[in-house]
Amino acid sequence: MAANKKLLMLPGDGIGPEVMGQAERVIEWFDGNRALSFDIDEGLVGGAAYDAHGTSLTDETMQAALDADAVLFGAVGGPQYDDVERDKRPEAGLLRLRKEMDLFANLRPAMTYDGLLDASALKDEVVRGLDIMIVREATAGVYFGEPRGIEELPDGSRRGVDTQVYTDEEIRRVAAVAFELARERGGKVHSVEKANVMETGVLWRQVVGELHQAEFQDVELHHMYADNCAMQLVRDPNQFDVIVTDNLFGDILSDCAAMLTGSLGMLPSASLGAPDETGHRKAMYEPVHGSAPDIAGQGLANPLATVLSFAMMLRYSFGLGEDADLVEKSVAQVLEGGIRTADIMGPDARQVSTEAMGDALLEALAKQAG
Ligand code: NAD
Repeated sequence: MAANKKLLMLPGDGIGPEVMGQAERVIEWFDGNRALSFDIDEGLVGGAAYDAHGTSLTDETMQAALDADAVLFGAVGGPQYDDVERDKRPEAGLLRLRKEMDLFANLRPAMTYDGLLDASALKDEVVRGLDIMIVREATAGVYFGEPRGIEELPDGSRRGVDTQVYTDEEIRRVAAVAFELARERGGKVHSVEKANVMETGVLWRQVVGELHQAEFQDVELHHMYADNCAMQLVRDPNQFDVIVTDNLFGDILSDCAAMLTGSLGMLPSASLGAPDETGHRKAMYEPVHGSAPDIAGQGLANPLATVLSFAMMLRYSFGLGEDADLVEKSVAQVLEGGIRTADIMGPDARQVSTEAMGDALLEALAKQAG
């Protein structure tokens, strides 16, 4: 029998604990009904950690994250922390986790559910069946490059500087994640940059092409300029399977793709690090949304993004594709049954609370598992 998986749950602030509570019920269902079992540990992060310890992530919790097989993260932040010093603010805890776990590949799926097509900003026929994975490089590029800053020039005017910088290894490792994912999905990668006007784009295109040639010729590779990719995402998003791109373009394109699908409350994500000697990657899974202080504590939060983040964990950290499918099919079944939280409410649907959405999911899981 396989050893228990060590899972660290970090609910955080605002709606974080509410959505995590429902994900925990799903995890317990898997613990009781499927072959896998979990040792669940829970920690404080963000404002919750600041209130208790004066820092948004203690060294002990950081170590627990490094020791875990996977981390499930809720959300952090809230207006009550707006005046806290920058390095102790809720977001600093999240940034420290990403940095010390070296989570360089951020995976953001964008998929539509037939029951929710009316939530998309685009026409049904354009987004029906959508299933895209955007892989964004997340630890390098212009958000981290030096020099950076705002300086005063001799004539008294000011100049702001950011530096876009990538090494070939930083490009290669994220491209490898994209190619490996494509092998398990539709077999196609679009590598996105601006090689027409940026040196980092020229290098990106070369390195991705070389890696493809050397190790992934079975995957279809297309190079695309980022501006064209933005257009294509709204014109014909179904042409894409996996998109791999840098930190800045990935930030923008993944938000654009997210809106093809409707609500923030439906969007999961994964952040992966380098594989260790056993092939296991450090990994953190989290909904894309924030702590939603405007609806916190009212039972209005949609827990599906967090539950779908757990499904990504099953698939990418534990290789349990069938169990991940089971979660995703159960979500689809609930939506097709017209059960909705307020954020995804439609004309003929029934609005339920966060907790009742969890009830419906557990029912659907039991049915799907037969
Ligand atoms: P947000 O994602 O928290 O909320 C944006 C809007 O979407 C709100 O109207 C909210 O009610 C709604 N929403 C979000 N998630 C939802 C869900 N699961 N169900 C139903 N509705 C949902 O973004 P914001 O309002 O810009 O930020 C609020 C706080 O969250 C800020 O402190 C911000 O810094 C923080 N934040 C944290 C993360 C993170 O922890 N990863 C990400 C983004 C923002």
